[in-house]
Amino acid sequence: MSVSSIEHTNGENRLRTPLLVIGAGPHGLATAAYARRVGIEPLVVGQPMAFWRESMPSGMFLRSGADWHLDAAKENTLIAYLQERGIDPVDADPIPVWLFIEYAGWFQEKAGIEVTPDLVRDLSRKDGRFEATLQSGRRVSAETVVVAPGITHFTVVPEWVEENLSPEHWSHTSTIINFEQLRGARVLIIGGRQSAFEWATLLAEEGADAIHVVHRHDTPDFAPADWSFVDGLMDLTSSVPG
Ligand SMILES: Cc1cc2nc3c(=O)[nH]c(=O)nc-3n(C[C@H](O)[C@H](O)[C@H](O)COP(=O)(O)OP(=O)(O)OC[C@H]3O[C@@H](n4cnc5c(N)ncnc54)[C@H](O)[C@@H]3O)c2cc1C
Repeated sequence: MSVSSIEHTNGENRLRTPLLVIGAGPHGLATAAYARRVGIEPLVVGQPMAFWRESMPSGMFLRSGADWHLDAAKENTLIAYLQERGIDPVDADPIPVWLFIEYAGWFQEKAGIEVTPDLVRDLSRKDGRFEATLQSGRRVSAETVVVAPGITHFTVVPEWVEENLSPEHWSHTSTIINFEQLRGARVLIIGGRQSAFEWATLLAEEGADAIHVVHRHDTPDFAPADWSFVDGLMDLTSSVPG
């Protein structure tokens, strides 16, 4: 098994790893587990499931079902976790976000993945290897890198929002996950997909005075999600590099 080690060069300790995984969300954890399974000891840098803990409201339910899981080997699945906890999948439909976060913790433990709680600040290529600098200042030399930083850094806010509204009057759904502050408020939600309607419901439950949802597409029919389109795309990700 390839193991991460510490290398001492120029008076500096440098972690040396065959595989650096940046991010410890579902993709980072799934990649790390699969790597371990095939004998590669990865170095995983990030905060486990941070996006799920910090950018999703605790009352949220998932749209994906119990058949979605993190294990490429199909062993430590969400269904297996529910079975171990004695939870009937029918009773966990839809899946509360906290249950999926707990499953991810269980999966991480089962897969023996240790996560280094840090952030990668810089990544460059040197002498055929990758060199990463962490926020803590530590350096990592990696043969291969899997980048799984998720969508947190790619929030898009239309220009007109910041131009027309003062900062205390608007939020992006990734930053507003506690709704108490909007109790009694009149709220306009711009956008009409999952986050929009999920936030509308949570705001109503929290006691917002009025909620309007505006969007440019037809009103969703709120039918159970059909995810079959994903299978073909997933197959392509492994057969078409890049
Ligand atoms: C409202 C909402 C509802 C959703 N519902 C579902 C659902 O029902 N089912 C479903 O499967 N998916 C759902 N998703 C999508 C799901 O959140 C993403 O598909 C999933 O989180 C992607 O996993 P990831 O590992 O790529 O990224 P993330 O979960 O975003 O994890 C990335 C991690 O990398 C860390 N990171 C970022 N930069 C660095 C760095 N430089 N160094 C180290 N770490 C870094 C981040 O802090 C984060 O912890 C939903 C998303 C939203 C917003």
